[in-house]
Amino acid sequence: MALLAYAAILAWLTLAQMLPFEHHGHESMERVFSSIYKRCPDVTRVYSVGKSWRHRDLYVIEISDNPGVHELGEPEFKYVANMHGNEVVGRELLLHLAEYLCRRYQQNHPRVTTLVNNTRIHLMASMNPDGYDLAARQDLEINRRLQGRGNARGIDLNRNFPDLTGQMYHNEKHGGANHHISFSSAKWNKMEPETKAVIKWIQSHNFVLSANLHGGAVVANYPYDKPRVRRHSTNQRQSNAATPDDKLFKHLATTYSSTHKWMSTGRNCNRNFPNGIVNGASWYSVTGGMQDFNYLNTNCYDITLELSCDKFPDATHLKNEWSGNREALLSFMEQVHRGVKGIIRDENGNGYPNGLISVHGIDHDITSGNEGDYFRLLLPGVYWLTASAPGYHSETTQVTVNDSAPSVVDFDLKLISMEDFIIQQKEIPTFPRRASENGPH
Ligand SMILES: [Zn+2]
Repeated sequence: MALLAYAAILAWLTLAQMLPFEHHGHESMERVFSSIYKRCPDVTRVYSVGKSWRHRDLYVIEISDNPGVHELGEPEFKYVANMHGNEVVGRELLLHLAEYLCRRYQQNHPRVTTLVNNTRIHLMASMNPDGYDLAARQDLEINRRLQGRGNARGIDLNRNFPDLTGQMYHNEKHGGANHHISFSSAKWNKMEPETKAVIKWIQSHNFVLSANLHGGAVVANYPYDKPRVRRHSTNQRQSNAATPDDKLFKHLATTYSSTHKWMSTGRNCNRNFPNGIVNGASWYSVTGGMQDFNYLNTNCYDITLELSCDKFPDATHLKNEWSGNREALLSFMEQVHRGVKGIIRDENGNGYPNGLISVHGIDHDITSGNEGDYFRLLLPGVYWLTASAPGYHSETTQVTVNDSAPSVVDFDLKLISMEDFIIQQKEIPTFPRRASENGPH
């Protein structure tokens, strides 16, 4: 009897601690983060990556068994929500996700424990707190909260990233880098404070996988967002713009849509998306979006999740949204543990940062992180993998990837000695110069 009473009290306490399904403004979001941290100080950390135009912090809650530290071989994952200030479902979902992970970890829930112990998870509930504030203060009945998409200056942050996709298309034709494409300081100077803060954040962590949570449709959208060819008329259909990792991106988007309670039906908000997924460019063209930037400037594979027809639904719908998305949010995070991972080491056995990992047949390389560890997401199959670095012999090996856990392949690079260098020079064949190169005739 006493045991039953104890169980009832425990259930009541757990329920009382749970986060209510309501909209959270900036200050109440801060309180939610701080209460989650107080309940789970061993596996959480709250930090800010910078400030919005109106000096609101861009908060991230990190969930990991070793918060604040990159553990060698443990991949970094992120969710970013509320980039458009009036698209708010993702913001509430991430608060609930943080609370859920904290509570389930305390309860030793096996799936959550495995995830938290093996992944460094970062959740940014709002990338645009100023836009949210504007949207939340409007009268729902009068204008359906259409304002607040942009930041305080009305700039659409998902068009504010450097356009690297155009450069990529140029490189495909004329040669050039297929990864980590840089951009000019002139572009940097024109960016909004929220965009700059997020770029610094994503460049300072070796993120492997992420999603960006939006609203206004229900579909998982994958890169590229910018089409290869410009449309000649508005009647012309947009064409698919595939990345070299197209199959993988389709799989990642399908993982979300098929584990979401209704996304994969595809028939939502008067639109029809087969299997609940869509290539960004085939839907509509976005230049300067965040998902293309992640893929082309960093190691991160990012997709865009459109979660609700109504961008700012009444709070009474939030419980249903959480129930529809919870499994998908977890399943998508688990995808960070696929493909191949390992460490690139130098001649002294130290981790080699910025070493290159190429997969034969997929024209998109990734690099090792600050401590030499790398994470290459891949679908099951047999691949040839090459690690290379300036001044070292490149190394190639065959690897079999299965669906359950990442295969581990470490590379110990060997320096090119002066002797090797001289031999290499001798081995380079010399061709007779063409007549035209001998001078004008
Ligand atoms: Zn949006």
